[in-house]
Amino acid sequence: MASTILVVEDEPAIQELVAVNLTFAGHKVLRAATVDQAMTLVRAELPDLVLLDWMLPDMSGIVFAKRLRADERSRDIPIIMLTARSNEGDKVEGLEAGADDYITKPFSPKELIARIKAVLRRRAPQLTDDLVELGGLKLDPATHRLYGARPGGQAQALEIGPTEFRLLHFFMTHPERVYSRAQLLDQVWGDHVFLEERTVDVHIRRLRHALTPSGHDVLVETVRGSGYRFCATASRVNEGDLANLTA
Ligand code: CA
Repeated sequence: MASTILVVEDEPAIQELVAVNLTFAGHKVLRAATVDQAMTLVRAELPDLVLLDWMLPDMSGIVFAKRLRADERSRDIPIIMLTARSNEGDKVEGLEAGADDYITKPFSPKELIARIKAVLRRRAPQLTDDLVELGGLKLDPATHRLYGARPGGQAQALEIGPTEFRLLHFFMTHPERVYSRAQLLDQVWGDHVFLEERTVDVHIRRLRHALTPSGHDVLVETVRGSGYRFCATASRVNEGDLANLTA
């Protein structure tokens, strides 16, 4: 899946080289030459990853990294530092400021793309094209196909809409955790998308419907008062059955 990458680099030739290669790799690229410009871009649209030069004209990239980490809205954005520095102390300072990785200049475009993929795989697996298999479901982002198999049964292709596919991709890469409707809107529909929370309920319903033919609808659990959870080991006993047992 294409991700939005903010490139903060004041050297025009390097900014251009990086932007061209990222665009070619299928990413959407935002460009800034100063921390000030970068802050403005982040306010308008939250990127999926930031490539951050260390030495910038207005202030250090480290300061920007710390600001991103200090703000709840941007706290979780993966950051890769681009740096001409290679001494150990600088690397430690970069990592302590919240960078996920650093690349020492000069670097090859191939190395850059590989590092970005590795960081996204670790920090935002729903943005990669990696095949995900969990709880008898197999989701292939590259071909947009979904297969489900009952225990001991044959896998069958499942019909699923694009939004439900993204929702399921997020769930399968973040299983067993409860997400509120607001969190799901941020993660699946994107930051700065203003939708009512019941939009989530509509798509959860469609997602369960899509998973029904293979019996996987039970994996999408409603957590009362909190939100939803994808539980790969969900038992067939749901809350309704429990209520009947104790009635
Ligand atoms: Ca620079």
